[in-house]
Amino acid sequence: MIYGKYKNARNAAWQCLIDYNVNKLPVSVLSIAKSAGIKVVKSSKTNINYLMPKESGISVLINKQWYIVYNDNSNIQRCRFTVAHELGHIFLGHELEKRNRRMQTFKKSESFAEQEANIFASRLLAPACVIWALGLKTPNEIASVCNISHSAAEFRSERMRTLYKRNRFLTSSLERKVYRNFKMFIQSQKKIL
Ligand SMILES: [Zn+2]
Repeated sequence: MIYGKYKNARNAAWQCLIDYNVNKLPVSVLSIAKSAGIKVVKSSKTNINYLMPKESGISVLINKQWYIVYNDNSNIQRCRFTVAHELGHIFLGHELEKRNRRMQTFKKSESFAEQEANIFASRLLAPACVIWALGLKTPNEIASVCNISHSAAEFRSERMRTLYKRNRFLTSSLERKVYRNFKMFIQSQKKIL
């Protein structure tokens, strides 16, 4: 992993949480998309088959309008991650490929962009400073508070282990802003947890 790029995706996730006034978990990916003017569509509701077999989501630009089409056969946690991943492609400005005259999608061949979109999605849905403030550690705790899949939570929990050890939260001004927005939520949750 190239650190510079990693930092970009992480900062982009923080900026997105700030720009769309996200202040509680689970993060509503649909509200973010709506505020950004991006239409989110279930693949079962489309006439054209946008998704290839095994593809969980795609971002399509048609006449300057962004659409995220996602496979709604998956469970809610998976769907949420897919939409967040596609938001990542859009917000990170990944390179577009022309599928036909009207339609543009992201280049699937670029696995680096895929990795970046995944980093964006996991930082968006499970922001480290909020997980830290709530003292969440196990994949189960993270999965249930963030409403993400167990496998996504396992990755996050592993990353959190490193971050807890390093114990350098809130060193970036962006992260401090995210934390401030979540402060009320953190306080309300601490009473429950
Ligand atoms: Zn992708």
